Amino acid sequence: MRIQITPLFSGSTGNCILVQAGGTNVLVDAGITAKALTGALAQTGLRMDDIAAVLITHEHADHIKGLPVLVKKYSTPVYATEGTWRIMHGKFREIPKFRPVFVPDGAFYIGDLAVDSFPLSHDAAQPVGYAFFHMGEKASIATDTGYVSKGMIRALEGSATILLESNHDPVMLQTGPYPGILKRRVASRKGHLSNEDCARVVAHLAQCGTKQVILGHLSMKNNTPELAYESTFRALQEINIDPENGLSLSVAPPALFTD
Ligand SMILES: [Zn+2]
Ligand SMILES: [Zn+2]
Repeated sequence: MRIQITPLFSGSTGNCILVQAGGTNVLVDAGITAKALTGALAQTGLRMDDIAAVLITHEHADHIKGLPVLVKKYSTPVYATEGTWRIMHGKFREIPKFRPVFVPDGAFYIGDLAVDSFPLSHDAAQPVGYAFFHMGEKASIATDTGYVSKGMIRALEGSATILLESNHDPVMLQTGPYPGILKRRVASRKGHLSNEDCARVVAHLAQCGTKQVILGHLSMKNNTPELAYESTFRALQEINIDPENGLSLSVAPPALFTD
């Protein structure tokens, strides 16, 4: 693959995804402590100085937890939508040192990567997913969305690699420990994507040429890596795509490196 997607952290405890193409490295989200983030980066042989930009999807803590310290210690530009900036600044006064703002659906360049963003359906100010382009190849990241709209499908189609949310098993969610209000929030159209909904989208994208699928942002309480994997595995088998031959299917762990 020309664009490498490496989920350093994925899930409700924190999200940070490394995207690399040509000589350019960017991070999507900084949802764990700056210390844990730079530690994981070091395991891949990189330092913060090697990161061209941090792209934020939305302002929830599991996506921006490390950002106040990062912006204080490093001059790495941070990109977010206007709505996300507004809420982030309200939460952490130190955040907007740099303020590259972009509008969803408007592409921009960071080094060797063209970056496009698209709106998601989530209970945040202005949440987005990202699509990356490099030398004719496309890769996308979409987590934290209650459902996948036709517009999102169009934004994801043609991706060689995709990291898509496979958040919960609906039965585990309904019978699990969350209070009713939180169960309804997670299952709503502005919540998180279920294994089944994720599987359906992956099956469609695989028919449009996607070759590498990473399932991410799994719930610790309402899912297991096995259930998430099985769900998409079955959906691919049903359309005669062998997930063990010709397509790479994997589940992002909560943390790629454990010390
Ligand atoms: Zn969120
Ligand atoms: Zn999240």
